[in-house]
Amino acid sequence: MSRTPFIAGNWKMHKTVDEAEQFIAGLLPRVSTADGVDVALCVPYTALAAMVDSTRGSRVEVYAQNMHFAEQGAYTGEVSAAMLAELDVHGVVLGHSERRELFAETDKALALKVPAALEAGLKVILCVGETEEERERGDMQRKLRHQIQEGLEKVPTERLGDVVIAYEPIWAIGTGLVATPEQAQEAVSFCRDLVADRSKEQAERTRILYGGSMKPDNAGELIALPDVDGGLIGGASLDPQPFSAIVAAAA
Ligand code: PEP
Repeated sequence: MSRTPFIAGNWKMHKTVDEAEQFIAGLLPRVSTADGVDVALCVPYTALAAMVDSTRGSRVEVYAQNMHFAEQGAYTGEVSAAMLAELDVHGVVLGHSERRELFAETDKALALKVPAALEAGLKVILCVGETEEERERGDMQRKLRHQIQEGLEKVPTERLGDVVIAYEPIWAIGTGLVATPEQAQEAVSFCRDLVADRSKEQAERTRILYGGSMKPDNAGELIALPDVDGGLIGGASLDPQPFSAIVAAAA
């Protein structure tokens, strides 16, 4: 089965609305002719409404970077899936390693967030990945198994293929270190096998991205790997030029 390549930028806590508007004005003309690739930007909450407006009718979709699993309630500072959907936000990236490490995001919470997002009509990118220490002591597969099995646990089998998985080795995020093609292919195909344990058919549909210091000069090789269906891009998504070059490499 052929899967449409997917390039998603993760701005993290970067860009005011004004800066986001300048970025979009630079990006849209650069990606308008890139065929056969889906493009998304995961932007701060404060820029969501403006970015949904500015990208309407374009190929660029707008994602949030987190949400709460509850429909509503006494959760000061949190945002629900319905609140994102009301803004016409297309999706949400969940379980980024920075949320797991710095904000104590757990697999248990993700097991509730992923189905809550899907039920609200949002697309989901679920991030997984091991630390350098876990890789060195041979625990990569155990970590990925936990993260994927729990994150997808409450997703109905027929919807498994709707969840995009981003394999992001933590040692490669923002460090300039990139997984070798062999390391990326091995981990990503292991992620696909984990989905296949629930459904082979859905595993064929599942798009799995690589993330970790992806740049224009290494994107082509990584995206060409048999099981890698695109990239989740941090640093190189902050400027339209490198980001559009990665989109072009995937197109
Ligand atoms: C990320 O934050 O998901 C990421 C992959 O960052 P970078 O591309 O900067 O390594």
